[in-house]
Amino acid sequence: MSDREARDRQEFEGVAASPGIGIGPAFVVDRRSIQVPHTRIDRDQVEAEQIRFHESLVSTRQQLETIKSRLHHGEHRQILKAQQMMLRDPDLIQRTESLIRDELQCAEWAVATATDEVLEMLDQADNEYFRERGSDIAFLAERLLMTIQGEHPGELLPPRGSIVVAHDLNPADTASLYRAGVVGIATVVGGKTSHSSIMARSLQIPAVVGVDGLIQTINSGDLVIVDGVHGLIIVEPTPAELAGLEGEQARYDAFELRVQKDRAFKAVTDDGLHVVTRANLSISEDLALAIQFGAEGVGLYRSEYLFMGREKMPTELEHYKDAKRVLRKAAPHPVVYRTFDLGSDKQTKLLSFDEREVNPAMGMRSLRLALRERDMFLAQLRGLLRAAVHGPLRIMMPFVSSLEELEAGLQALAEAREQLQEAGMPQSEDVPVGIMIETPAAAMTADILAERVDFMSIGTNDLLQYTLAIDRENDDVQYLYQPLHPAVIRLVHQVAEAGRKRKIPVSLCGEMAADPRYTWVLAGLGIREMSMHPSAIPVIKDLIRRSSGEDMKKLAAQVLKARSAFEAERIVFETMHARFPEHLDHGGGSGVFRHGGEDE
Ligand code: PEP
Ligand code: MG
Repeated sequence: MSDREARDRQEFEGVAASPGIGIGPAFVVDRRSIQVPHTRIDRDQVEAEQIRFHESLVSTRQQLETIKSRLHHGEHRQILKAQQMMLRDPDLIQRTESLIRDELQCAEWAVATATDEVLEMLDQADNEYFRERGSDIAFLAERLLMTIQGEHPGELLPPRGSIVVAHDLNPADTASLYRAGVVGIATVVGGKTSHSSIMARSLQIPAVVGVDGLIQTINSGDLVIVDGVHGLIIVEPTPAELAGLEGEQARYDAFELRVQKDRAFKAVTDDGLHVVTRANLSISEDLALAIQFGAEGVGLYRSEYLFMGREKMPTELEHYKDAKRVLRKAAPHPVVYRTFDLGSDKQTKLLSFDEREVNPAMGMRSLRLALRERDMFLAQLRGLLRAAVHGPLRIMMPFVSSLEELEAGLQALAEAREQLQEAGMPQSEDVPVGIMIETPAAAMTADILAERVDFMSIGTNDLLQYTLAIDRENDDVQYLYQPLHPAVIRLVHQVAEAGRKRKIPVSLCGEMAADPRYTWVLAGLGIREMSMHPSAIPVIKDLIRRSSGEDMKKLAAQVLKARSAFEAERIVFETMHARFPEHLDHGGGSGVFRHGGEDE
């Protein structure tokens, strides 16, 4: 190693936000240096400043519209739409206007003050989701300020093949990076659920976020490795490191090509076990991508997104149209349409939630909320029953915690049927109805609940949260997120057994399904359907095709005997690492609940 290498090489740890390895010269974006003039204006300038402010709002919205029109991915467009809506926020606008009018601040100063106030508020929020929305506000403020000052923020234009290093990126930036051919992203702020991380994952750009000290250390042109598998940033790597990683990157790309090639074929083990792989979707626009990735239909359609970021309640007709659209795009495959799962971390302005709710995850959410907001629930159920005439729709109710709750949900469905009948509207008579198993209570009584439904789907994201008492939004306790904890494994097994005895399908649609380390155990426990974010499907399918059902059962039997999560992890990770090193390195695109640590 030369002196220069020894002096310059640096390594940073961060959060592995999007898997893959990117190597290239850094392109450092440091936009925090916008100068905000603090000019006190005269009274007769107030009107002109108000006009400058309003013109910049219009122009910024247009800039976002232009970027949005170039995006094809539904989720990305949705994020930009949400940002455009933030620019219409009456509180923000009125506050800025009053700072100009009453405090005689110039437009730039007033925008900076008003947005800083919002940022401060978001920063103090307990909820990680709200804290992370702060980055959206900060970027909007930045765009507004540049626009007022007559600069056009435009799109980032890094050279092809570079690694973008930034304090933070907004979704508009991330989308333009994809087109620019950027091979990696490293940011100082951001978490697993921040919008840029979500986007990087779906655009398949390797990303590491939450890395302290990046901007101060890295200069444009420095050679940087973004290791999105292990959450590492290496600046000025040694030649040996570089050779090793370049080799790894080439293997990674070749692997990607291979699994993509067969993605349309079913996932059947060599001894004939078919594991159905379906897609989890938040909005119908993503379906085309899911089918491309080889999804055998939709295993979880998160319909609550239809209620978010809007001013009016969706009508029966909108529900009908949305479900019909999803069915048409998924045909001939089935669509498991989850009735709205609002509350807790998925809030909507359309409903009032008790501000004093100390523990919203245990509060008025999901099916409980639907039963309280009966008219809203009935409108959705009517829309779904009507849409089911057009294809294989399955209705799934989230977050059931008792038989009575399930009966009340079924009762609402019967009422929706009657209402349609009375109105003389056509509806499907044959719609399978299922539930999500997300609470320990539901898992432990799955045999009882199974008697009343046509299918069950295990939502491990919530099941783990409630079984292991770990807040899924809280990074500090992510190390306790242990899908192989004996409590979780026993519950999953219990549900699979209940389904087998009752002869109804049991699927699993939590993030765990997207992680190749768990595929054998889940299939071995009796899970025959797995639903995951679309980009994970080709890897999981390929792994299943290279497996035998017998081996899966053997591993599951061993795991059922393990006395702790660590013991189970040792057995499973050793087996899976030995058999599928490439699949595991690839991570199946499952950056969301990745463990840190050696076993990765
Ligand atoms: C789950 O809880 O596992 C699930 C799939 O639902 P969501 O992530 O939408 O809560
Ligand atoms: Mg859930």
